[in-house]
Amino acid sequence: MAVFGLGGSGIAAAHSLVAGGGEVVTWDDGAAGRERAMSEGLTVADLRDADWSAFSSLVLAPGVPLTHPEPHWTVKLAQQHGVEIIGDIEIFAREREVHCPNSAFVAITGTNGKSTTTALIAHLLKQLGFDIQMGGNIGRAILTLEPPQAERIHVVEMSSYQIDLTQTLKPSVGVLLNVTPDHIDRHGTLEHYAEVKERLISGAVAAAVGIDDALTQAVAERVEKADPKKLYAFTSGKGARLVPRVYAIGQTLFVHEKVGAYATSQEVANLEGIATLRGRHNTQNAAAALAALRALQALADTGGAALEPKSAAGAASIFEPAKIAHGLASFPGLPHRLEQVGEVGGLLFINDSKATNAEATEKALASFAGDIYWIAGGRAKSGGITSLEPLFERIATAYLIGEAVDDFAKTLAGKVTAVECGTLEVAVERAVSDAKASGAAQPVILFSPACASFDQFRNFEERGEAFRLLAQGHVATAGETSGGAA
Ligand code: ADP
Repeated sequence: MAVFGLGGSGIAAAHSLVAGGGEVVTWDDGAAGRERAMSEGLTVADLRDADWSAFSSLVLAPGVPLTHPEPHWTVKLAQQHGVEIIGDIEIFAREREVHCPNSAFVAITGTNGKSTTTALIAHLLKQLGFDIQMGGNIGRAILTLEPPQAERIHVVEMSSYQIDLTQTLKPSVGVLLNVTPDHIDRHGTLEHYAEVKERLISGAVAAAVGIDDALTQAVAERVEKADPKKLYAFTSGKGARLVPRVYAIGQTLFVHEKVGAYATSQEVANLEGIATLRGRHNTQNAAAALAALRALQALADTGGAALEPKSAAGAASIFEPAKIAHGLASFPGLPHRLEQVGEVGGLLFINDSKATNAEATEKALASFAGDIYWIAGGRAKSGGITSLEPLFERIATAYLIGEAVDDFAKTLAGKVTAVECGTLEVAVERAVSDAKASGAAQPVILFSPACASFDQFRNFEERGEAFRLLAQGHVATAGETSGGAA
């Protein structure tokens, strides 16, 4: 087997193939990956010079172009020699099929909210007492997780690139959140991108599908037509063309149950006041998690998938509204996504460093009603922040940093007071002092840059950590000046 792309998932794939008795040759265009593979005892050789007729498979890292903008050279070589091209999750899927085909496996995809929803599903199931293995596109590479077995649930986030490399994907529950234009460079057209996402649903035993956008609504309708029992549609609103299984009125989530000829709606949880699930986008993520759990419960009940997830107490009881409500309230959230990193005297510090474009920042601004002291900037994407204009009225003052200062100042001119700060440090300083002086009951220092970080930071994580430290510094100082009561 050839393994190309030696990041965490490629290295893990190579090790597990070797452990399974495979003969493995690894390679990467970059020296760092090759050195790591060598230091871990893997065979490293230039795949350009390899005898491709001897390979049974090429295991490709998901970041390597399979089709667009152009197939990578390893892909062309594999195709010339009739060598199949797979990813690490395909290896997992095949092993599961052989050793434990009925073990619970929840796979999550969508354009936005994948990581949050994956983490939330894993958290809720853990709270209920299940043995959870979480990974894939979040946290750990899938082949570093504990293997599938009865009474263990794999909760796996999948990007469209990973789905593209997983031919026999058959999760117990597939979750499709939403599909909006993104990564078109890698998939050619929006239709092809949506098609790849739909593959996760096609192979699933049960399908939790969002119906808040046209493309996923069409997917849900196709599932409904082919096999209505398979569908667990969910929405952050009330739904229109399809009757959703999980829906929301405001921030209250309901599940719709059909028992024979009767239909009932049951309130499951209210997200109000849960700081880690602010905003309508998180209502969608929570609805997705509920739909997934409801589907898992049905599989456990019918034995249709011979699912055996038992809690420590021995009961295969998954969809328990009271416990789910409790689990939602204790969700720790993910760092850098609308993450509350400090509060002092009603003043909130929110780290949304993951927002590297206007679309993500739109969700952040929409999550707070007003009195937003907004810190933004960095390396801007095309279009800048013009699309955010409908939300400008929520912003008290904007504090601009990085390369985007001039561009953003122009967009805001005459609409929002903007302070050109340059650095994050100056921006936090100015924002805190203005917010305190405003007299507002709950002002928000919102760091949602709508920009890439590379002009001033190594990545969005480092940028978010910088904001966290500055926020904590202010919280500590405020604590000291008020006698250290906090
Ligand atoms: P992903 O893993 O798909 O990148 P994340 O859960 O990491 O998604 O969230 C990244 C950003 O996407 C969030 O900071 C938020 O701005 C936005 N987001 C999260 N959930 C949703 C959703 N359901 N719909 C639209 N945008 C969302």
